[in-house]
Amino acid sequence: MSPPLLLCAAAAFTLGLSAELSAQRTYGGAPWPPPNDSTVVVMLGTGMPAPNPERSGPAVAVVVGPRVFLFDAGPGVMRRVAAAKLPIDGPTSVFLTHLHSDHTLGLPDVIFTSWVMGRSTPLRLVGPAGTAKMAEHIVSAWEQDIDIRTNGLEHARPGGYRVAARDVQPGVVYDSAGVKVTAILVPHGSWKQAFAYRVDTRTRSVVISGDVRYSEALAKAARGADVLIHEVYDGRRVVPERRAGGDAWPSYMKSFHASDVEVGRVAARAQPKLLVLYHIVGPFTPNELADGVRRGGYRGRVVVANDLDRF
Ligand SMILES: [Zn+2]
Ligand SMILES: [Zn+2]
Repeated sequence: MSPPLLLCAAAAFTLGLSAELSAQRTYGGAPWPPPNDSTVVVMLGTGMPAPNPERSGPAVAVVVGPRVFLFDAGPGVMRRVAAAKLPIDGPTSVFLTHLHSDHTLGLPDVIFTSWVMGRSTPLRLVGPAGTAKMAEHIVSAWEQDIDIRTNGLEHARPGGYRVAARDVQPGVVYDSAGVKVTAILVPHGSWKQAFAYRVDTRTRSVVISGDVRYSEALAKAARGADVLIHEVYDGRRVVPERRAGGDAWPSYMKSFHASDVEVGRVAARAQPKLLVLYHIVGPFTPNELADGVRRGGYRGRVVVANDLDRF
C-alpha cells in the first residue's frame, strides 16, 4: 500500500482555530487545557547531539492557553511532552529551526506517536527549505506501519498520520487568535536557511534562537522580548579535537554556534527580561557560562535551562 503522503498545504491551512484546538489528550489523563490563557515556555529538550540521558534533543513548547506551539523536535521529544503533561495527540503546529538531525530526529516521533495517541487531523509543520520533502520521506519510510495500523486490528484513525508541511520564507508564518509567529533568517555555518522564531502573544513575547552563530538580525528581532532562549558554548573551552578533522573544530564552532560572550552581546542589544541558555555545545559550568554572558555586556537575568523547566 502506498499512502497519500501529504495534504495540499493550501487546503490544510484553512482548517481554522477549531481544528487547531482538537488536540486534548494528555499522558495519564492529566488536566488539560490550562485554566487560563497564559503564555508558558516549557523546555522539553535542552541537549545537543550527544545522547545525554539528562538532556533530550532540542525542543521548546510555547503554550498559549490550549494551544501548543512546538519549536524543533529533537530525539526524545514525545516522552518529554508526556512528562510535561502536554497533549500527546499532537501540538497545534510544529516549527523547525533547521534540518540538522539533532533538531529533527524526533519528527517521526511527533508525527506517528501523536497519530497513535488519537490525532485525526494533519500535523501542521513549518520550516525552512526542505521541510516538506523531509516530512514526505518520513511518511514514506513508515508506509508499512501505516498500512498495518490503518488496515489491521488496531483500527488507527485513517489519515491521522498525515502532515501538512510548508517550506516558508522569513516573515510571519502563523497569525491567529492573538498569537503571531515570525521566522527570522539566521546564520548557522553552511546551512542555506536556518531560522530563529519570535512568538508574540497577548501577554508575552518569546524568542527561540535555534542554532546560530552571533547574529545582529537575531539581536534586532529579539529586542524587548520577555524571554530569549539562546544556544551557547563556552568560548574558553573550545580547542582542536584529537580525531581526524579535529583541527577544524574551533573553526566549526565559530561558524555554526555562538560563544557565551557572543550570546552576551546579543542579549545586551536585545535586552530581554530573561535570557535562557540551552543546546550547550561542549563541557560547561553554569557559573562560567553566566560569567561569559556578563563579559559580553548583558546585565539582566540569565539561567541555564534543564529539561522540563518552565518560564
Ligand atoms: Zn544545527
Ligand atoms: Zn543543534
